[in-house]
Parts: sequence; structure tokens; C-alpha cells
Amino acid sequence: MTEELYLADDAVTTFEATVERALDDRVVLDRTHFYPTGGGQPHDTGTLRVADGGAIDGEPSEGEAADRRWRVVDVRKKDTVYHTLEPAENRTSEAGDSSATDAVALPEPGTTVVGEIDAARRRAHSRYHTAQHLLSALLLDEFDARTTGNQLYDDHAHLDAAYERFDEDDLARIENRLNELVADRRPVRSYTMDREEAEATLDTDRTRIDLLPDSIAELRIVEIGAVEEAEGGDGDAVEEAEGGDGDGCDAEPYDRTACAGTHVEHTDEIGEVVVTGRETKGSDEERVRFALAEHVGGVDDGS
Ligand SMILES: [Zn+2]
Repeated sequence: MTEELYLADDAVTTFEATVERALDDRVVLDRTHFYPTGGGQPHDTGTLRVADGGAIDGEPSEGEAADRRWRVVDVRKKDTVYHTLEPAENRTSEAGDSSATDAVALPEPGTTVVGEIDAARRRAHSRYHTAQHLLSALLLDEFDARTTGNQLYDDHAHLDAAYERFDEDDLARIENRLNELVADRRPVRSYTMDREEAEATLDTDRTRIDLLPDSIAELRIVEIGAVEEAEGGDGDAVEEAEGGDGDGCDAEPYDRTACAGTHVEHTDEIGEVVVTGRETKGSDEERVRFALAEHVGGVDDGS
């Protein structure tokens, strides 16, 4: 089973690993930072290349090793994590003709490879995913609307919630509150917890443990903390949190959700969020669409 390094550190985008298996156009590595599609978050993309001196026996045959590079175009987790590879074209003509019908010569098992993840795409996913947690939490807190599904991309996202109908005022209130939570610069951290303990101690509407397969015995909890005490005490620009149960360091976290995705470290890294629309998803189910301001047409990226 591949060691899933992205669970422990979701900021790393370059890593070394060893090829364990190669099948058709896919490889399995002993460890990976490539995030596989899941939990509403799309897979990472990037490249794999043979590490310097990483060819089998350390004896690359005549100039071959230098070119041994592949694009990672899909990452799926089934029994383990599979990386689908395509031959890397000439770097300068990336979007060029897709007439590459040659069979992909994959790196052999035992080869040491370097993986490089498309950092901009990953970063966007992490920002959207963290925004989704805030949105789920505030919909539960303020509308008693439980999240039933979510899907994010690198430039927009949506979330489904059990609710009859959000009107225009609701959407404006949701957007305002979401941006307050973003601006709060709340810390985001993750840790593992036994499922039994989680079910006994955490709010299950919030953690969404019920959505996870029974086979999962240990959960990764993603926690969005309380507002941290400002250092200088000079922060009257910072708005007081409404209805807060105390702003001290020992305050309860704002949200705890079982999630295997990637996230930012502080909510202000998300940046301004725009609620772009809603639609009826089914009876008593609403879909809320949202995007980062920089991805909404005509909005200045003021940051
Ligand atoms: Zn998440």
C-alpha cells in the first residue's frame, strides 16, 4: 500500500519515491504526494522523472535517463494509489498535437523517481476545499443545513445542503459570514482519531462520519480553530466575532470534519469568496455555487 504523504503534509509538491509496479499506462509508487480524486477534490497533476542516478543499477544506458520524464494526468485510489502517465512532450510545446499514440515506456519497478506536483492547481484545490469546510460549518450553525455533497475544481466549486430554499438575502448573508471567517485567519490543522472515539466525542452532523465506508477505522480530522489572540493588541481593525463563545486560546474549535483532502494552514489564505448562485438540487436540497473572487469575471484580485 502506497504511503499517502499528502495526508501528513499538504504543502509539499516535490518528493522522491520508488516505483513498485508498472501496469499499462499506470504506476504504483511506494509513497506519493499526488492527491487522488476523492472527497469532492480532483486529483493532482504534475510530472514524474527518473531521479539523478536513479535508474536501475545506477547505470542509465547512453543518454536515455535524461529524457525519462512523464506527465501525471490522473491519480486514482482503489486498493492503492495509481498514477496514470503520458509521455512528456517537449516542454515548450505542451499543449501541442495529441498525436502521441506510442505506447508509454514506463519506469521499471525499482526505479527512483522524482514527483513534481502542479503547485498552482494544488494550491487552488486547497483554498477551495478549506472554503468548503467553512461554508459547511456556517450553513449548519446558522441555517441548520447539513452538507450532503460537494465538488470543487481549481476555479469554482459547489456544495449541496439539506435545506428548502436559500433566498437572495440568505445568499448575501452566507457570503458575508464566509468572508468574515476567512478574514479571521483561523488556524487549520489535521490529525488522526479512532472512529469509535470520533463517533463518541464529535458532532456527527458536522464530521460527516456517516458518509465514510465502514472499513475506515481511523479518521483524519480537519479542524478549523477559534480566532487566535492577536499579538500586538493593536488590532482594532479586526472585527469582533459575532456570537462567539469566547475568543480565548482555549475556545472550542470552529469546526471539525473527517476529511482526507488538502487544505490551507490559515483561513485568510483562501482570499475573498463570492457566492455565485444557487439552484434546487432536489426536494429539500439546495446547491450553492461559489468561487474565489479572482476566478469570477470582472472582479479585481485586490490581494
Ligand atoms: Zn477537507
